[in-house]
Amino acid sequence: MGRMLFASRGGRGDILGVAVLVIDMINDFVSGMLKSSRAKGVVPNIQKLLEFARSRKIPVVYTCDSHQSTDAEFELWGPHAIAGSRGAEVVSELKPKKGDHIVKKGKYSAFFGTDLDQLLRDLDVTRLVLVGVSTDVCVQNTAADAFYRGYEIVVPRDCVDAFTEEGHRRALEYMGKVYGAKVTTSDELIKNLRREHAVIPCSF
Ligand SMILES: [Zn+2]
Repeated sequence: MGRMLFASRGGRGDILGVAVLVIDMINDFVSGMLKSSRAKGVVPNIQKLLEFARSRKIPVVYTCDSHQSTDAEFELWGPHAIAGSRGAEVVSELKPKKGDHIVKKGKYSAFFGTDLDQLLRDLDVTRLVLVGVSTDVCVQNTAADAFYRGYEIVVPRDCVDAFTEEGHRRALEYMGKVYGAKVTTSDELIKNLRREHAVIPCSF
């Protein structure tokens, strides 16, 4: 009694119930078939956030497009992220590290047709930090599914981006209004998680 200990949630996740979801930071969306300088621009911020997360044992989950060569989505976007190709691999600057998780997806939402929800529940995750691209496509659609499943959503605005500033800005506003997403910055998020980490007392 009286000692400040970190509370254990009993699962394998971190004590804060947080996970970082890295959405579609793959070669095709950064430098390949659907490349975007805006996607490249968020790499350093995501890098910083992932370093912090791993240092605090916050789970890092990569969700990556992985399509068959006949995917109907190509009618809208052209071919991209073909399963097994270099384009479908996470960019080298953000390469997954030991202990990270990778979930392959075939649709915009990282929950659709994947075991992501079960993985997050096994990790005792209740809050999802969404980073990656595009703010108005895969990030927003993943936020919708996270909201339906009762997760709290946090979006650091400097760790997501879209093909256009307008698309990016609109999606942030929509997620904030409609899904109650907390739109913040990576620095602010890290500061708040540090603070939370320091003050969680334990009663035993
Ligand atoms: Zn796709």
